[in-house]
Amino acid sequence: MIAHDILIIGGGLTGLRAAVGLCDRFDVGLVTKVYPLRSHSIAAQGGINAPLANNPESRDDTWEKHSFDTVKGSDYLADQDAVELMCREAAPIVYEMEHWGCPFSRFPDGTIAQRPFGGAGYPRTCYSADITGHVLLNTLYERAVAKGVRVYPEWVVTSLCVEDNRCHGVVVLDMHSGELIPIRAGTTFFGTGGYGRVFANSTNALINTGSGIGMAYTAGIPLKDMEFVQFHPTTLIGTNILMSEACRGEGATLLNNQGERFMGRYAPTAMELAPRDIVSRCIQTEINEGRGFDHPLGKYIELDLRHLGEKRIKERLTGIRNICLDFVGIDPVKEPIPIMPGQHYSMGGIDVDIQGASEVQGFYAGGECACVSVHGANRLGGNSLLDTIVFGKLAALAITEEIAGGGRRQPDEKPLLRLRNEVEAKLKRLAAPGREKTAILQQEMNATLFAKAGIFRIAKEMEEALAKVLELKERYRHCGVTSPARHMNYELVAALEMEYMLEVAHTTVLGALLRQESRGAHYRNDFPSRNDRDWMKHTIARRGPDGDPVISYREVTVTRYQPMERK
Ligand SMILES: Cc1cc2nc3c(=O)[nH]c(=O)nc-3n(C[C@H](O)[C@H](O)[C@H](O)COP(=O)(O)OP(=O)(O)OC[C@H]3O[C@@H](n4cnc5c(N)ncnc54)[C@H](O)[C@@H]3O)c2cc1C
Repeated sequence: MIAHDILIIGGGLTGLRAAVGLCDRFDVGLVTKVYPLRSHSIAAQGGINAPLANNPESRDDTWEKHSFDTVKGSDYLADQDAVELMCREAAPIVYEMEHWGCPFSRFPDGTIAQRPFGGAGYPRTCYSADITGHVLLNTLYERAVAKGVRVYPEWVVTSLCVEDNRCHGVVVLDMHSGELIPIRAGTTFFGTGGYGRVFANSTNALINTGSGIGMAYTAGIPLKDMEFVQFHPTTLIGTNILMSEACRGEGATLLNNQGERFMGRYAPTAMELAPRDIVSRCIQTEINEGRGFDHPLGKYIELDLRHLGEKRIKERLTGIRNICLDFVGIDPVKEPIPIMPGQHYSMGGIDVDIQGASEVQGFYAGGECACVSVHGANRLGGNSLLDTIVFGKLAALAITEEIAGGGRRQPDEKPLLRLRNEVEAKLKRLAAPGREKTAILQQEMNATLFAKAGIFRIAKEMEEALAKVLELKERYRHCGVTSPARHMNYELVAALEMEYMLEVAHTTVLGALLRQESRGAHYRNDFPSRNDRDWMKHTIARRGPDGDPVISYREVTVTRYQPMERK
């Protein structure tokens, strides 16, 4: 049996940062279902927030101001101690990445360039043109390779092994050999990313299934705030590829079919740079009220960059221009971009504390699969890249301290071998001809969640969505794959992950249905106001004995920022 002191699942920014922080002292293995550089982190465009005060307009920016913006942006659901910690760490972590060789864009004076982003009081988003995730991920991957981190690429984790409140490791499917392999570890860390692909119209990579989240939940670890799902205002019509907030940060405007810059009616001060939840709802309202444009693929609104000029567009938004040329044949220098809101980010996730620790011994998580919570009900642009690197680093420190303090655990082989046999039986079941196909189930789940638990929510539709999820769970039991082969069988992997996606969908819809208020990205037509008296609390979903989620609530940590109305 393969064994490591510490096993990291995920080759995105979170997993790599944790690995880099641990590999000098421990034997670390890193498992990822795609090559690390294909993780969704690579797609991040706009930037990473830190109060460096480099921009002439942000000279008096501080971590306290960054914290306030984050708490306010979260609609007061974020835990304020966690936010303060993240914002204090922001500047040091950006400088650390710079010193490790990350090529940030620069101001003429040589300092790291910063641009304005939505919901931020100052221009504090550090960037590298519109490929910030690309440069950060390459920097961390190079460092991990240089330090000799053992990577197992294209190994899919199928199950997490927890027994007697202790984590013993995971079972993986090696896609190359088709073998099922148990891996034993004293500490397991998940940096498995978000659950965007549970929804239709997502900006996320197809690999963002949220299977890590569903897996932790199935193993008995609770999830937090799953109903909070971010919809990004500007995604390309048809493919939903992200048109970064950097477009609006650089000055792009939004126009309806009357040629009106409609944000003036909704958010006269912040205009296009109001927070994402608000701009998404404004765009969807314009479309719903007949002021969108028609397209064979749906209704859209225009994102206009033309006034920025060719030079600036080509310099600062190169990737955006190329995507528009390649996918819709439009040059944003000459024509507005057709956009619609799409699913973008998972605020909820595995319930962990500010050190990334869960309630199960030896199991940690960080980044988008986890909920600390620093984003609360709505994440600000540029705060997620920050979250991944900060909490990847802090978890590595916490794990190091725990082991130094005598907490090194001897994981047990027996539960892992038992789990391996269970997965083997599951694979055999899936290989038998079944009357249902995972791809069809996924399509139905995607469409239902986007339409009925999406940007606007109402009890009746969420009840229908819940009934649909239960129906899909039942039908999943009859799923079979076309080929029984285990080697590079993506249909088999999709079938394995579908079980977990349905758990994610279930906890998301149930949490949303029960939360009778509107807060951040969770907007209820039937409860349009925020209700601090009853709902300043996190939703905790735990898998009950019959397999259904059992919901409880936990108070939000408030330090210095008392809730105010968010306009
Ligand atoms: C298009 C786009 C643009 C964005 N732009 C920005 C931005 O400008 N600024 C910002 O702050 N945020 C941005 N975000 C959000 C941010 O990029 C992500 O939240 C962040 O990169 C997530 O990093 P992660 O390390 O948590 O997970 P990921 O980068 O998603 O990595 C997940 C890893 O887990 C592995 N994995 C998952 N499941 C399994 C399994 N079952 N078995 C084995 N391995 C598994 C995958 O192989 C992968 O390596 C953007 C997101 C998108 C989609």
